[in-house]
Amino acid sequence: MYMTFNIITLGCKVNAYESEFIKEQLLKNNFKYEKSYKTSDIVIVNTCSVTNMADNKSFKMIRDVRRDNPACIMVVCGCSAENHKDDMPDVYIDILIGNRDKSKIVSIIKEYLISNKTYVKFYEGRNSEFEDMKVEEFEDRTRAFIKIQDGCNNFCSYCIIPYVRGNIRSKDINKAIEEIEELVNNGHKEIVFTGIDTGNYGRETGKYNLVDLIRAISKFDKLERIRVSSIEITSIDDEFIKELKNNKKLCGHLHVSLQSGCDKTLKAMNRKYNTKEYLDKIKKIRKVRPDINLTTDVIVGFPGETEEDFKESVEFCKKVGFSKIHVFPYSKRKGTRAATMPDQVDNATKKERARELIKIDEDLQKEYYSKFKGEEVEVLIEEVKNGVSIGHTENFIKVEIKGKLEENTNYKVKVMKAYSDYVTGKVIK
Ligand code: SF4
Repeated sequence: MYMTFNIITLGCKVNAYESEFIKEQLLKNNFKYEKSYKTSDIVIVNTCSVTNMADNKSFKMIRDVRRDNPACIMVVCGCSAENHKDDMPDVYIDILIGNRDKSKIVSIIKEYLISNKTYVKFYEGRNSEFEDMKVEEFEDRTRAFIKIQDGCNNFCSYCIIPYVRGNIRSKDINKAIEEIEELVNNGHKEIVFTGIDTGNYGRETGKYNLVDLIRAISKFDKLERIRVSSIEITSIDDEFIKELKNNKKLCGHLHVSLQSGCDKTLKAMNRKYNTKEYLDKIKKIRKVRPDINLTTDVIVGFPGETEEDFKESVEFCKKVGFSKIHVFPYSKRKGTRAATMPDQVDNATKKERARELIKIDEDLQKEYYSKFKGEEVEVLIEEVKNGVSIGHTENFIKVEIKGKLEENTNYKVKVMKAYSDYVTGKVIK
C-alpha cells in the first residue's frame, strides 16, 4: 500500500526547483503523486516570504490545506516558515522546517510515519553549506532549471531574503556540470540557472565563477540555450559581457533589478550602484547584443521617496528602455532596516505611483515587441495547444504559430504581428 502526496509551491524559481527535487525523491521512494491536495495523504507547502502579500498567500494556503484535508500529514517549509517560525497560522502542522533540510524531507517524513511526533527544526545563524540537490528530468521537455546558488550577502535595506536564505553559497562546479549533462542527455535543450544571487555564483570559492560554468557547459553539443534568469548589475563585468558577445548559446534575456532610478533612493535602499553605473553597463551590453530583452523590478513608494524622486525614477526607466518592468509598491518587512525608516509613504500614493509606472511599462513593452515585426527569429517550440504551437525566441519573446509543429524543435519564423507581450509568426520554409 503506497501513500500519496501533493506539493504546493509559492514564490520563485528556486522554490520551484526545490519542490521538483522533493517530488522526484518522494517518487523514487514509492510515494505516489496525487493531483489534488484535498485527497493526498501528505501535503507539502513550500512557502514564500518575499513580500507581505507572499506571506499572506502562504498562510492562506496552509489554512486551506488543513480545512480541506483535515487528516493529511502537512509539511510546511520555505521562506515564510523561516521568517515566521514563531507565528505560523493557528492550525496543526505535522512537520515544520525552514529553508535548510529540504533535501532531507523524505527521511523526515519516514521518521514521522514511525514516531507520529510533530517535527519542528530550525537552525541558528546565517551560515551553512550549499545543500546539494539534483533533478534528473522536468515535465517541460524543452526547458530545465538548475539551482546553482543560494543565499545573499547584500542586505538591501528593504529585503528579508538574506535573513531567511542565509549566506551566499554555490553548487560545486563539477556537480553542476554533471547535473546539466544529464539533463541535456535527457533531451532538454535549454538550461535555466536559478539562484538568489546567481551572478555571484562561485565567487566565494575564489576558484570559479558564472562565466566558467557557462563556458564549460557550452561544450555540450545538444545544449542549445543557456539562460541566466536574473543577475545583479554589480555582477555584470567585462568578462560576462565578452561572453554575451561571443557565446551564441547564452540567451539575450537578462532580468537586472533596478529597484529605483533615483540615486538618493538607491542609496537608502543600500543598493551597491548608482544610475550612471547602471546605465553605463546597459550601454555596454547593448553594444554587443542590440536586441537584448532587458527586464527589471522597480519598487515605488520606498520610505523617503518624494514626488520628485519618483519622477526621476520614471525618467530613468524610460531612458534605459526596459522591455518589461515588474512594479512593486514598497512593502514593509518586519526585521529590515527600511521598516523603521522615517517618511514612510502612504498606501494611496504608493498605488498611484504603481499605476503610473505600469502605464509606462505597457508602452515600453509594446515598443520593444513591435521592433520584431517582419523580422526572422528562431523559435524553440514548447507546446501545442488548441492547434497553436507556442515557443520562445532566445531573447524570450513568446511566439505563437498556427498549426501543429514538433515540440522541442527549433524553427525559423517570420514575425507577423506584435502584441504587448507576445508575437505571432509564420514558419519560413
Ligand atoms: S540582492 Fe538585495 S533584493 Fe536581492 S535578495 Fe539580496 S538583499 Fe534581497
